[in-house]
Amino acid sequence: MPLRETEAIVLRSYRLGEADKIVSLLTRQSGRLRAVAAGARRPKSRYGGTLEPLSYVRLWLFERENRELLRMNSAELLESFFDMQKDYRVQVAAQYVAEVSERFLPEREVNERAFRLLLAVLRGLKRSGEVNRPLAYFNYWLLRLGGFLPDLASCAACGRALGNEPGYYGAGSEGLSCAACRRSPADQTVAPGLLAVIASGCQGTLDRWLAAEKAPAGVRETRRFFEELIESHLERKLVTRQLLAEEV
Ligand SMILES: [Zn+2]
Repeated sequence: MPLRETEAIVLRSYRLGEADKIVSLLTRQSGRLRAVAAGARRPKSRYGGTLEPLSYVRLWLFERENRELLRMNSAELLESFFDMQKDYRVQVAAQYVAEVSERFLPEREVNERAFRLLLAVLRGLKRSGEVNRPLAYFNYWLLRLGGFLPDLASCAACGRALGNEPGYYGAGSEGLSCAACRRSPADQTVAPGLLAVIASGCQGTLDRWLAAEKAPAGVRETRRFFEELIESHLERKLVTRQLLAEEV
């Protein structure tokens, strides 16, 4: 079977039997996939700490005929995002991007832009220690690359331009509603014009946005609206979203 070399970000790993791990990966060359790392749970494993969640690694993988899982041959650490997770807010944010990547991206579908996005967001979290802009950026681009970013300037139900009115959204929303179309008095509000400001910040690189100025007002509200859209498309609750709501 052919040996494949790829760069990857470890999304998470879980135990397999006494000594092995299954590692969930987002690879640059082959999209999201899972591979067995034999012996990775042994104390003196050749993998050491390489397969910690969110490690950026270079991997050599074997494809196995008629088997769903690939087999890992070796791994080399390119960049660690382990230390930054001493800050609990950053840790939760990093877990959120890993969980969303794993749920949102289809397995074995090449998506190099999603790979570069995840790497840029992890580096943004690490360098800035800021959480809201990197997450807003991650959510915005993930929705946009997936074709799920709604028209942010009009009501998703009636299509009317929102202009200077606030938009509303609640559980299961796939866009903003106007006051007439809102479904529940418990809906969340997004202030007028806010999304345009955040969307404009997301047009360049995350580095440039983080360096340009301090975080604009409303970036947290926007981030949370995008999280609702992501959860609506997944049709399931994200474990880390609740943690984010409590902490960040
Ligand atoms: Zn409407």
